[in-house]
Amino acid sequence: MALFSNKDKYIRITPHHSKKGPLSDTVPEVPDELFAKCPACRHMIYQKDLGLAKICPKCGYNFRISAHERLAITIDPDTFEELYQDLPNQDPLQFPDYAEKLVKTQARTGLHEAVLTGLARIQGQRVALAVMDSHFIMASMGTVVGEKLTLLFEQALNEQLPVVIFTASGGARMQEGIMSLMQMAKVSAAVKRHSNAGLFYLTVLTDPTTGGVTASFAMQGDIILAEPQSLVGFAGRRVIETTVREDLPEDFQRSEFLLHHGFVDAIVKRTELPTTIAYLVALHGGARND
Ligand SMILES: [Zn+2]
Repeated sequence: MALFSNKDKYIRITPHHSKKGPLSDTVPEVPDELFAKCPACRHMIYQKDLGLAKICPKCGYNFRISAHERLAITIDPDTFEELYQDLPNQDPLQFPDYAEKLVKTQARTGLHEAVLTGLARIQGQRVALAVMDSHFIMASMGTVVGEKLTLLFEQALNEQLPVVIFTASGGARMQEGIMSLMQMAKVSAAVKRHSNAGLFYLTVLTDPTTGGVTASFAMQGDIILAEPQSLVGFAGRRVIETTVREDLPEDFQRSEFLLHHGFVDAIVKRTELPTTIAYLVALHGGARND
């Protein structure tokens, strides 16, 4: 048909006008990591202005940080003694591509699993410490995460130590199915044994803490702190809105909302956390053999 065959009538975009053409060579490029967009206030922030603690200078939002960055701004220098880093990874369901994903994530993050566990001092207070890292498969809880936390509580019980956990998680690890859900009960039982001995357990909820982690050990702390504007919840906002068929408030599932409704004891700025944690640990007796 003539209508389709006579293509010469239409304007063609030649390589000269396309994005990959010579014109684009003159457009200055900004390296990806020079600026970061604040998820809370949407301002573009110059990375260096975030500082070591990575706090938005415009609104005070605490950016997500890695477990190693957390250690650097929280504990006394050279006091971290890592534990259980040699536990073998598990793939109980032989889930497609999961084993490769674990190897790649380990290489990218320098972490063995989604939680870093060990012993450390925070402003002189000796504690059993766990830091979850959302850069590792969204800090989802699989069997190794559950086992590391359980071992940490058991060691803390044996050595009469308080436990401090920085939580962050997308929930249970889907690739490990029911085995990951069982970790909720397993870690909770270890928390209870530690608690029965009269030992102190403190959680710090960081952005994001959701799913099975919120529904278990994140909310079992004797005292629960949270960083400003952190997302903390169980199911996602949209799922809840669809289920209850109501519009939810703007700040729903943010730490300020949780504080208002009694789920969180205090919201503490990242830079003030070490002092606050050390104070609370000391107030509750600290490490008994220290
Ligand atoms: Zn901001």
